Amino acid sequence: METIFTKIIKGEIPATKLYSDDLCIAILDIAPVNKGHALVISREPYPTIGDCPPKTLIRMMEIVKKLDAAMHKELDAEATNIVINNGPAAGQEVPHLHIHIIPRYSGDGKRFIPKKTAYNEGEIADYGRKLHL
Ligand code: AMP
Repeated sequence: METIFTKIIKGEIPATKLYSDDLCIAILDIAPVNKGHALVISREPYPTIGDCPPKTLIRMMEIVKKLDAAMHKELDAEATNIVINNGPAAGQEVPHLHIHIIPRYSGDGKRFIPKKTAYNEGEIADYGRKLHL
């Protein structure tokens, strides 16, 4: 499947590349939440984590860790948000697995705090059973 990211990987459209290897690439997001917002993208267009082999995910997380360190060192980031919109219902716009790394600063006014819900009586145990690995 062709996505905007497969076009970037093939060099058909430009991007500011930060990293490249046999399993993934990293680029700057064209519409950053804060400047330096980066994306680590699988080379193969797996739509979500569920489609992606663990080896590739592990490599992607290694690059996330390096970019997190670079953001602290080079951009004086105080923290980062590391986000995967893992499917359209979670707000994914490009159906090709990518991890956002967003540099954050105290008082930068960005919010990644979803509105929370609550369990009914006894419900948390049911969810615990369903998701227990
Ligand atoms: P998501 O909503 O998680 O699918 O995020 C897709 C991200 O890709 C958005 O943050 C976009 O700003 C970014 N994006 C879309 N097109 C490009 C592009 N040509 N170069 C860099 N980033 C892009």
